[in-house]
Amino acid sequence: MPYTMNMDEIYKKIENGERINKEEGIFLLKNGDLLIMGDLAHGIRMKKNDPYTVTFVMDTNINYTNICYTKCSFCAFYRDEKRGYTLSIDELKEKVIQAKKNGIDTVLLQGGLNKNLPYSYYLNMMETLTSIDGIHIHAFSPPEIDLMSRISGKSVEEVLIDLKNRGLKTIPGGGAEVLSERVRRIISPHKISTRRWLEISKRAHLLGLKTTATMMFGHIEREEDIVEHLHNLRNLQDETGGFTAFIMWDFKPGSTPLSKKVKHPATACEYLKILSFSRIYLDNFSHIQASSSQGNDVRQMALFFGADDFGSMLLEENVMRSAGFVEHSTAEEISHIVKVAGFKPALRTTDYKILRFI
Ligand code: SF4
Repeated sequence: MPYTMNMDEIYKKIENGERINKEEGIFLLKNGDLLIMGDLAHGIRMKKNDPYTVTFVMDTNINYTNICYTKCSFCAFYRDEKRGYTLSIDELKEKVIQAKKNGIDTVLLQGGLNKNLPYSYYLNMMETLTSIDGIHIHAFSPPEIDLMSRISGKSVEEVLIDLKNRGLKTIPGGGAEVLSERVRRIISPHKISTRRWLEISKRAHLLGLKTTATMMFGHIEREEDIVEHLHNLRNLQDETGGFTAFIMWDFKPGSTPLSKKVKHPATACEYLKILSFSRIYLDNFSHIQASSSQGNDVRQMALFFGADDFGSMLLEENVMRSAGFVEHSTAEEISHIVKVAGFKPALRTTDYKILRFI
């Protein structure tokens, strides 16, 4: 007997705190009402986190190289060896010292996949930067860890232990885009597979390194792909509990090759619907971030559609900037936006410990 979905039953299930399955997820994402989903997601967020507080972190995103062989079709950041740059360890150290003088305590380090960098470059980087007092290093997404494993001939586990022993604290969950092979074959055929991304994240979790999970939507993905992505994350979180937060942003077309395949950029309503859906589906994630990819007005609205955290006040950001999108807020601006929305802004660490209310 064919099973017919009933939207009211799915809403009821969510309201009762029951987990929805993949099929129900696809049905909800395709047919759900934005405001009802937002309301359900906000209810979950208010139960999971301090209902009065919205956290954020003061950090800077340093891209140590933009040379990358992967050439993802959505990326406006990478360059070839002739036109690209790689920062020396001294230059990186100087940037971190400057960031610290500006009140930054967390440094996000990510780079293109530059096959010419020796393994020792990464180890020196860690040793040098973690010797700077009071700096938390949040570095190297799964594709970078995979590259280090291949250039060093070491296993992923050995690479992670080397980095951890040199002071790596947490890992950003970049390079996920959409964890569906149908999508990855089109937008990033030279990047690691879904299975490899999950495997590296799992290895990190098992070694006690917490990671975030990300998603970039608004290009060629379908609702089924988004649900597959979130389902993969939810399964791994059930197994390890190692994800601290989920962060999503929409594709910025700029002049990238992928822009020709995309009819229109994601709208605010699409962003808020997928955000609410993520809060509902990722029932084992503690935190959902409101990203800046739709601008600060939508980011503020996201606080009523499932987000409990304002992400970061990025002192430096180059990837979205390369696609022509610039959104920079000071800590004071973030604090104002959060207060006007009715919450108390609080500075936090990368692992979500509150430092102080501001
Ligand atoms: S998204 Fe990352 S891996 Fe892909 S081309 Fe850009 S820098 Fe390289």
